[in-house]
Amino acid sequence: MSSPRDITRIVTAHRQREGAGFIVRRPFPGPSLALVDPFLMLDEFGPIDYRPGEARGAPDHPHRGFETVSYLLAGEFEHADSQGHRGTIGAGAAQWMTAGSGVVHAEMPSHTIQREGGRVHGFQLWVNLPARDKLIAPRYQEIAREAVAEASSDDGLAQVRVLAGTALGATARVDTRTPIAFHDWTLRPGAALAVPLPTDFAGFVYVFSGAAEVGASRQRVSDGQLGLLGPGDELRLANPSDVSTRLLLIAGTPLGEPVARYGPFVMNTPAEIEQALRDYQAGKMGVIAARRD
Ligand code: FE
Repeated sequence: MSSPRDITRIVTAHRQREGAGFIVRRPFPGPSLALVDPFLMLDEFGPIDYRPGEARGAPDHPHRGFETVSYLLAGEFEHADSQGHRGTIGAGAAQWMTAGSGVVHAEMPSHTIQREGGRVHGFQLWVNLPARDKLIAPRYQEIAREAVAEASSDDGLAQVRVLAGTALGATARVDTRTPIAFHDWTLRPGAALAVPLPTDFAGFVYVFSGAAEVGASRQRVSDGQLGLLGPGDELRLANPSDVSTRLLLIAGTPLGEPVARYGPFVMNTPAEIEQALRDYQAGKMGVIAARRD
């Protein structure tokens, strides 16, 4: 017999300035929610319509001990890192970066967006790495728009793009270090379904357009709100309104390990954070080579 999950808490995202001065909606970390183990942070940037010369990004900065997942709905970002990876993330595409032992990278709106302006909308999720993986070699997985697994419910009212895990029979290609589900759901008016989720997963839904009724007791979660998932093996999602709803469903196996975090470094102990700072300052995470073109 199935056991439906419920929403145990609703957290409204706060606004915060990041990088070189772009505004994000951040459901966590914040004063009322520090993390959702194994997830350390979720940011939504935009939707914003930049005028020419206005677009801002995050110039060269380091990371160690976790993964950054960027998922873009609109616009175009250019990425460069100290491992020599360079790429462009377009609308509908994602980048799964395992910082591991350490990288220095830059995440900037594309030159075209910087020059001509345009709409930018996307997310960045931070996924913690287990202690055994914190110092693995950095890795970079690019998922082009057409490589994102997609599926629809039989009635066509619910559609999902699967960045990690499985939904409606569609399975993502990305390798994750621990079991994770990362779904982008579109719920048309009248949509109602139950999404299976392993019982050991902890996680949340984050609504970024419209509103949904979530969980066994049909709690309403609205635009800019995160709903924390209680225990169970499936999650009911419904949209009884007359406009479409968009939400992220993100869940995974909690690591259950101590978290020591300082800015862009997330380790298990304060001593490991001090080591990360020393290694960064000594140049051990590298620098981004100058472009030749
Ligand atoms: Fe970064």
